[in-house]
This record gives sequence, structure tokens and C-alpha cells, in this order.
Amino acid sequence: MRRLVGITGAVALAAALVASVSAATYLPNKWRANPPFTVTMVNVSVTRPELVIGLQQAAAAWSASSVLDVVIGGKGNNKVQAYEVNLPSQQLIGWADIQGVAGKGYIKTAAVTFNDAYIGTIFTQDYYTGIVCHEIGHALGLDHVETPDPESTCMTPGPSGPNPSAQDFINLAALYGG
Ligand SMILES: [Zn+2]
Repeated sequence: MRRLVGITGAVALAAALVASVSAATYLPNKWRANPPFTVTMVNVSVTRPELVIGLQQAAAAWSASSVLDVVIGGKGNNKVQAYEVNLPSQQLIGWADIQGVAGKGYIKTAAVTFNDAYIGTIFTQDYYTGIVCHEIGHALGLDHVETPDPESTCMTPGPSGPNPSAQDFINLAALYGG
């Protein structure tokens, strides 16, 4: 079973920031691991500083979880491949690609991809860190959250804050039984 979760596409149209949010079909998925465990981010092709810093900041932020750590490295279990692409025609800035084990509810492989076409335009480091945080959140098994304060979490469907919220950590702990 394969699904694409695209999010937080944004494009400047007549100076207006328009969030493009794709419909997310989210199925129950989690890493087959007992907490505490490690998720390894494998940097395949991320080079732009905004995204490299985003990876570092988001990995550190998620590692505040009680059930898992996110480390950047080449070796380890529960690998998430991280890619950078340049797609000016694509409004999405980041997306997660999760391959599951059919019928099991477990994540088999995961990849996060970041579109560098908008770097250097109107977005801040916090914005890119939020994008990375968001896609890693999906790769950990989390769905979107709705909140009246979008800046409080990176897991809202549209442009959101740079960090996970306390509720995101509660959701993560609930998912893994920590
Ligand atoms: Zn999303």
C-alpha cells in the first residue's frame, strides 16, 4: 500500500500567500518497534542550508519524544530517506511517501522529499524547519491535527509552526504505547 501525503504547498500569487493543501488519505501506520527506539534519517540528496538546518532542527525537536529519537545518519533501523528536488512547477514544498506492510499497519519504508524551488523567496528558516518537521511527523506515523493556533504545531494541514506541540508528543506516545 502506497500513499503520498503532500502538504504545505505555497505559491505567491499577486503577492498573496496561498496554501495548497492536498487531501491526505491517512491510514494507520507505525514503525514496528518498541519504545524507546530510533528512527534514522538518511540524507540522500538534501544540500541547501535551509533544508539541512531544517533536518537538524526537526530531528532534534522530535527527539524530545518519550518514545523515540530521530537521528541523522547512514546506519540504523527504521530508516527514512530524505531527498531534495527542484520542481518549480510543483506547488508542494514537502511530501512524505510511506510504504506500508499490507494489512499489518506497519511502515516498511518511508521517504520525505523537499522541493527547493521556493528557497530564497519569501519563506523563513522557521518555515522550512516546519516543513521538515511536518514530513518527519508523517514518517513517524502521525496524521494532521487541527488547532486554532496553527503556529503551535508543525502538524497542521497548512503552513504551521516549526516545532511539534505537546499534543503531538502525546499522540506519538499513544501510537507507540509509550
Ligand atoms: Zn501533511
